[in-house]
Amino acid sequence: MNIKKFFLKSKIIFDKSFRLLFTVFAEPQNCICCDKMCYSVPLCKSCYENQLCKINFNNRCKICGKELISESSVCLECREQPVLHHTDFMFPVHAYKLWKKDLLFLWKLKNVRYLSEYFAKIYNTVIKNYFPDKNICIVPVPPRPGKIKEKGWDQIQDLCKYLKYIYGYKVLNLLKRINVEQQKSLNRNQRLSHIEKLFEYNCKNNETPDEIILIDDIITTGATIEACSKILKEHGIKKVNAITLFYAE
Ligand SMILES: [Zn+2]
Ligand SMILES: [Zn+2]
Repeated sequence: MNIKKFFLKSKIIFDKSFRLLFTVFAEPQNCICCDKMCYSVPLCKSCYENQLCKINFNNRCKICGKELISESSVCLECREQPVLHHTDFMFPVHAYKLWKKDLLFLWKLKNVRYLSEYFAKIYNTVIKNYFPDKNICIVPVPPRPGKIKEKGWDQIQDLCKYLKYIYGYKVLNLLKRINVEQQKSLNRNQRLSHIEKLFEYNCKNNETPDEIILIDDIITTGATIEACSKILKEHGIKKVNAITLFYAE
């Protein structure tokens, strides 16, 4: 076991014990999904296993991967206003609604950092399902410049640490985010081309794998994933897949 993996595993055990102790001595806490009192906040064991970790792999849109309501194999949005032209495969795990919104809020904005471990497990399940026996590289969607300095961490980078050291995936930082002034009141097309300007290829990198998996937390319009895929394709990556934890409906 390498030293980083050892430290990360020890950290997980320490965090879990600390949280357990904390919930025993502190005010009773409720599961954000079923509202029952539990010791493994924010989700109880049963909701974690049966709601969050249970992934529906069937009946998905062939293009954006969202769960389908109709019989057609491509969703209405992808038929009418397709965004993902350079992304070969997309799998967003859960619809962003109800308690899942609270979960993402806790992770991203309330610094509930141990959720990274919960989520890494889900990404690993999806990767194993679609890319078995493959030494596939993971490419994180990079945080905005200065975020790590301000906040101390970035949720996607944190997640990638688990994917690298616990699950053994190769993580390559092939993309960089640049600081571009936020423009308000843009229409849909302007917004899409604005997002394209936010990313560039990381020239410090000297590896070009044939196929990669882009990792982000949520897909809303798909413009971020698409902008990243386009850049990666322009720099020689032949197949770009993407996995996100949530999708906005
Ligand atoms: Zn629960
Ligand atoms: Zn679709």
